[in-house]
Amino acid sequence: MTLMKKAGAVPRYYAALDFNQLWQDYPPAPDYFETTYVLSRDAIRAMQESRFLDQMKRAWEIPFYQRHWGQAGLQPGDVRSLDDLKNIPAFSVHDLRDAIARNPPWGDFIGIDPDHDEPMPLAMQTSGGTTGLPRPMIYSPQDREVMNIITGRRLYMQGVRPFDLVQVTLSLGLSNGGFLAREGIWKYTGAVPVMTGSGAQTPTRRQIEIMLAWKSKHLIGFPAYLRHIGHVMRDELGIDPRSVGIGSLIVHLGTDDRKPLEELWNADVFDTYGTNECGTLAAECQEKNGMHVFEDAFVLEMVDPETGRDVPDGERGSIYQTTLFKHLAPLIRFNSNDVSAFKLGGCPCGCQHRRIDRIFGRSDNMVKLRGTNIFPEAIGALVSETRESNGEYVVIVEPGAGGQDEMTVRVEVLDYAGAGAAVEKVLAERLKLSLGVKMHVVASEPGSLSGLTGLRDNSKVRRLIDNRPKV
Ligand SMILES: [Zn+2]
Repeated sequence: MTLMKKAGAVPRYYAALDFNQLWQDYPPAPDYFETTYVLSRDAIRAMQESRFLDQMKRAWEIPFYQRHWGQAGLQPGDVRSLDDLKNIPAFSVHDLRDAIARNPPWGDFIGIDPDHDEPMPLAMQTSGGTTGLPRPMIYSPQDREVMNIITGRRLYMQGVRPFDLVQVTLSLGLSNGGFLAREGIWKYTGAVPVMTGSGAQTPTRRQIEIMLAWKSKHLIGFPAYLRHIGHVMRDELGIDPRSVGIGSLIVHLGTDDRKPLEELWNADVFDTYGTNECGTLAAECQEKNGMHVFEDAFVLEMVDPETGRDVPDGERGSIYQTTLFKHLAPLIRFNSNDVSAFKLGGCPCGCQHRRIDRIFGRSDNMVKLRGTNIFPEAIGALVSETRESNGEYVVIVEPGAGGQDEMTVRVEVLDYAGAGAAVEKVLAERLKLSLGVKMHVVASEPGSLSGLTGLRDNSKVRRLIDNRPKV
């Protein structure tokens, strides 16, 4: 980039990239499945090596990394291959927030300076933003287009084909999911995005009318909302969701259960892992046995949150993300705090890209109870499947009388007087069966937990209260 801004120059998106080169480097579907998808481990690694070194070079131009790495004594020549990745200091969302506070409004990790750099067409989306302002991310044409290509690959893997109607029930606003889906579907699948947006944008009954009249073939959305649409269809409109011909539900499954959702719609449910910073990082193929990482664009590590060391394949750790394609705000060892595990064994689909397990929860929420790691989110998933509850709960951990730590799940029950005792018993059994640890369940009246969870004052909802003495 030159240091002089050309007066009056307006950048054009389609002149900002060499698309043929881009498609060679990051093949879109269906070419992808005959090229990068079937590469050997050695070939994948070689591709990652060269892209990683380019990404390092770019990151050294960005003030955030100059500061973060400089403070740790890292020099530009210190990292010579992917084997050195482990020696690079990681960072987390706290560092990003800190960088924004220090350099408002975008933070100094974006790597573009409007006072000096040539203009380029930019897009911006944000994180969900549960506390304070949402966290912005700005994308260069290269960043955005690679994310679109990967979205297209993922949807193709999961059955989307030209002329299919794909109904996107994700919010269309600042957060990235909805718009990224539209761009990926439109540009790289030949299918047609039907942008109904969330229930706040198109009421659920209208979503259903559109789905039926236009014959949407796939649904993209959060599992809880797709479940809600199915229930409204079945219970309020008397239409069997299994009869409407939905082929697949494309979701971030997280800790949600796949099976009840598949049965509700008689459709395949495919899991995906994605973020605002990166777009889609990994997605399930038709085997539904772990999510293949798009390893031509990312290097993922699985790290023990306590020791900071790699965990063996099959064991749970925090996902560290390194991007290989980003021009603005590349991520090098970003500790996402999302907990997963690398899957063992190969995938029958023939792809040798590594697979990650489902997302089990957030490591900053994880509690160790009698030697077992518990995620409050997993408890929340079971609570939300309990028909008698409104889904509100809080988990309390404290030292028990016998010297062992005890966990109590307090859950709001709609018909508290009538169904409270039965819910306590059934839910305690389900929790034990599903999470492997005995915990108490105490039913409460609707609204009674909001003082504990913070739901009342509209701050970030608290699901875990750990009253154990700090060691
Ligand atoms: Zn596979």
